[in-house]
Amino acid sequence: MDLYEKAIRSAQDNSFVHIEALAYEMAAKFYLARGFPQIAQLYLQGARSCYLRWGADGKVRQLDAVHPHLRTEAASALPTGTIAASVEHLDLASVIKVSQAFAGERIMEKLLESLMRTAMEQAGAQRGLLVVLRGAEQRITAEATISADLVTIHMRDVSVDVALLPVSLLRAVLRTCECIILDDAVGQSPFAADPYVQQRSARSILCLPLLNQAKIVGALYLENNLVSGVFSPARTAVLKVLASQAAISLDNAYLYQELEEREARIRRLVDSNVIGIVIWDLDGRLLEANDAFLRMVQYDREELNAGLRWFDMTPPEWQEVHARSEIEELVATGTMQAREKEYFRKDGTRVPVLIGAAAFEGRPDQGVAYILDLTNLKRAEEAARESERRYRQVQAELAHANRVATIGQITGSIAHEVNQPITAAVIGAQAASRWLEHDPPDLEEVRRALARVVRNGTRAGDVVGRIRDLIKKVPPRRDLLEVNGLVREVVELTGSEANKNGVFVEMLLADDLPTIRGDGVQLQQVALNLIINAIEAMSAANGGPRRLLIRTEKTEANHVLVVVQDSGPGLASTTVERLFESFYTTKTVGLGMGLSICRSIIEAHGGQLWASANQPRGAVFRFTLPPAD
Ligand code: ADP
Repeated sequence: MDLYEKAIRSAQDNSFVHIEALAYEMAAKFYLARGFPQIAQLYLQGARSCYLRWGADGKVRQLDAVHPHLRTEAASALPTGTIAASVEHLDLASVIKVSQAFAGERIMEKLLESLMRTAMEQAGAQRGLLVVLRGAEQRITAEATISADLVTIHMRDVSVDVALLPVSLLRAVLRTCECIILDDAVGQSPFAADPYVQQRSARSILCLPLLNQAKIVGALYLENNLVSGVFSPARTAVLKVLASQAAISLDNAYLYQELEEREARIRRLVDSNVIGIVIWDLDGRLLEANDAFLRMVQYDREELNAGLRWFDMTPPEWQEVHARSEIEELVATGTMQAREKEYFRKDGTRVPVLIGAAAFEGRPDQGVAYILDLTNLKRAEEAARESERRYRQVQAELAHANRVATIGQITGSIAHEVNQPITAAVIGAQAASRWLEHDPPDLEEVRRALARVVRNGTRAGDVVGRIRDLIKKVPPRRDLLEVNGLVREVVELTGSEANKNGVFVEMLLADDLPTIRGDGVQLQQVALNLIINAIEAMSAANGGPRRLLIRTEKTEANHVLVVVQDSGPGLASTTVERLFESFYTTKTVGLGMGLSICRSIIEAHGGQLWASANQPRGAVFRFTLPPAD
């Protein structure tokens, strides 16, 4: 645009009015082509007046035919009266100056300065404010003042306030999108009552909406409190053109600023090297990568510039996955959801990573990916797994030791339990041989006696087998189990111990229980612990009936509930939770591990174990187990 400006100036200097006209016309075409019809109009008027002065009436007629409004507007827009004689040129020069500035400026501050300076000079204002809309908020972004004929611009960023400008007038302009000019604001105007107008005795006021394609983006406020009627329509014509272009530029500038801020934020992420970031293409090339990524794969920037390929860093098994699903996902959705994979480092070792990617809009064969080094995480995971494994092992050993100890505690009773059927078997065998000695031998009695031998022998074998199971060290299982069966076996095993201690045992087993999934030996250990604890508690107490009730029920949530309830001394409410702590015991020979192991077994089965007081005396231990499915 400089070109036309220079051409016009030099034509004016040399009084080449025909060249001046031509330059005006070309400038008009330039602006028209770029979508600035109002500026183009001003140039056309310049061209028309040159042709008039030159006497080229034909050219004037031709212009008027194509642009009929030029003739009328030329008459009214051409300045008359007190403003400088060359006002037309001055205006035009300003327009050119500012248009150029706006067209070229991208930086918000300079743009606002250009606008304010020109507006102040143009209009003869004493003070000016630029109000910009940010969402619903109106903010003053620049303030211009004049002292000693010098315009000073200050960048501001404050909310609109009654102390700074007539807010009622500003709102009217923003609402109607119409320009308001007041010759004597405090004297005779609809805004005479505005607090600012009153306080400052405001005289000449001009407030222009800044519109970008019918969208209001702000307002330009100018005032002169010394002189009335400063802002004549002739002066405002140019201001309006400037304002509309300023609005477009302001909008662009904001967009640009926003873009810059966004880019700066993204840059910050890239440069901070917290995560690896690369720009890739689908051919397998790395177009860009930050230091974090290069460090991860042990390459340097020179090697990247020489043409590093991410595809070559991808181990063969991932290459296949990439070829199939990842490209498909990227092409279909534009993004690749985060996933774990591996890359080869330069030294051939593998680095585990988490990677997510997005294709660029309009360039789907390229995109950006973020990559997180998972080496430390994997190491920590492995360590956590190992310590979990060791913890489980120790826990299993402990549970086993507790089981063996509990069984050991009742060996006497168990021996009795095994002895009984063996004795019965011996008696049966003796009876059988006696029946055989009869003459004739009573074979029917022999058969019956031998059946008793078999029954008792099997029973003894069962008890021994069960004890062996409980004492055996086997890895935990996840079997489908019937809780009632498990409970029955434990009650049987502890029957002699209860007997020995004068405890009357009762069982109430529900027959609608769901099957559960778990380890039968572990669950029997829980029942065994609770029953032995109850027998011990009752034996330690003096007097009163010794009753042990073992119930099973189905809860509302379809879980299995097992209740072990005794009539012993009961639990002090303050210590109920402590019972489940490791090494808490009130017994001289106790270990204090039983209940804590029981709780961890039940919780590992997805259930709960808790204790409470029994009525009228004694303790109740309950545990739940979820159904198998
Ligand atoms: P230990 O039997 O080796 O003491 P436990 O963890 O099995 O370890 O039990 C911890 C403590 O809980 C016992 O010492 C006892 O004081 C208390 N306790 C357990 N069961 C009962 C019960 N049925 N009645 C009263 N106290 C109980």
